[in-house]
Amino acid sequence: MFRREAAMSYRTRNFFLSLSLFACFGSGLMNHPTTCQAAAPDSNEQRAAEFVERHEKVVRPLEYQTGLAWWNANVSGLDADFQAKETAQNKLDAALSDSARFRILDEIHKQPIADSLLKRQIDVLYLQYLEKQVDPELLRKMTALGNQVEKTFNTYRAQVDGKSLTDSQVRKLLKESKDPAERKKVWEASKGVGALVEADLKSLVQLRNQAARKLGFANFQVMQLHLNEQSREQVLDLFDELDSLTRKPFLALKSSVDAKLAANCGIGVDELRPWHYQDPFFQESPAIFAVSFDPIYAKADILKLCRDFYHGIGLPIDDVIARSDLYEKPGKSPHAFCTDIDRKGDVRVLANIVPNEYWMGTMLHELGHSVYSSKNIPASLPYALRYEAHILTTEGIAMLFERFSKDADWLQQMGVSVPDPKAFDEVGARILAGGPRDL
Ligand SMILES: [Zn+2]
Repeated sequence: MFRREAAMSYRTRNFFLSLSLFACFGSGLMNHPTTCQAAAPDSNEQRAAEFVERHEKVVRPLEYQTGLAWWNANVSGLDADFQAKETAQNKLDAALSDSARFRILDEIHKQPIADSLLKRQIDVLYLQYLEKQVDPELLRKMTALGNQVEKTFNTYRAQVDGKSLTDSQVRKLLKESKDPAERKKVWEASKGVGALVEADLKSLVQLRNQAARKLGFANFQVMQLHLNEQSREQVLDLFDELDSLTRKPFLALKSSVDAKLAANCGIGVDELRPWHYQDPFFQESPAIFAVSFDPIYAKADILKLCRDFYHGIGLPIDDVIARSDLYEKPGKSPHAFCTDIDRKGDVRVLANIVPNEYWMGTMLHELGHSVYSSKNIPASLPYALRYEAHILTTEGIAMLFERFSKDADWLQQMGVSVPDPKAFDEVGARILAGGPRDL
């Protein structure tokens, strides 16, 4: 997952990627001259340049404070840090929701701008300000509720028989236990957070839809897609197409998976429930193969492998590691993300590493985001554009690197011995293809 501004999405997998996206970073886009002030006085170009300059002066420090507060709250889980995060977000929102500033921006946005780099900055800023053109009180309410929900999710730990379990302990048990009753108990405990956030989450949904409708969108989802320069139709068409292309092989695979999972627990296929599927979010292929990756990673130094690998491809990440928070602790977000704090190279990863394949893949993924960030974007690119080209491009890059954790050749080249490389690769290929072809 990669964090950008206040938006937040958990690590997504199995999405498309394209290596060619990397080309953007080394090509014309990044090397474009930043100066665009050679316009006639009072021209739209000049007004645009002035708006961008003032934005950077006023909003940039607020974005930095928000990024820092967001990081601190996710690391500690402390009430005071979540309160500081909310305060910082409110200050940032107050600047972005300034209606007089938005009117100026709207006028600039409607007029042609010849300089493509300046035009892109105005397009991006227009969307950023547009989202905040609602009643400031409504914005503050949404931030308070969102903050509360996030804190509850981050600090929640499954309670089983009076014991608090970490996310990794829940995953391990759901991967290995053959006892249906135990699986159910742990899975339900891990979902106990639902009841805690239900009321706040429902209120938040209503407020977000209210804000989106005020801005002329059908609902919050449609608005968010628009702000990310996508449309609901485009996304639904894509997923409909993927569904029609994959439904048959998916159902064939799933029936093989179901048979194996049911047999593992000594139950019938018709008795399978969510807690039999290992991954709590049904996002990972179940571990039902002859070869298990985990014993190999149990002895490996995941962080060293990451350092050596990224250094080896000319994109060292030692500075990222030094600023990161990588191991489990109470109150800390139990997931993983990479965040760019200042668009000037202060890039950090939050993780909860334990030595297994899941965390090897996750660290390659998050550090993949880190090399596709302001850390490697020339400072000559204007501030307003100095982050990933789109959330899909950074996810694509992260997923490209993540795949190596299932590649025996990669492991061997990194100096890790793999007992049966052929079997390892066969299983890896099946998982990367979305699941086992045969069992
Ligand atoms: Zn990601």
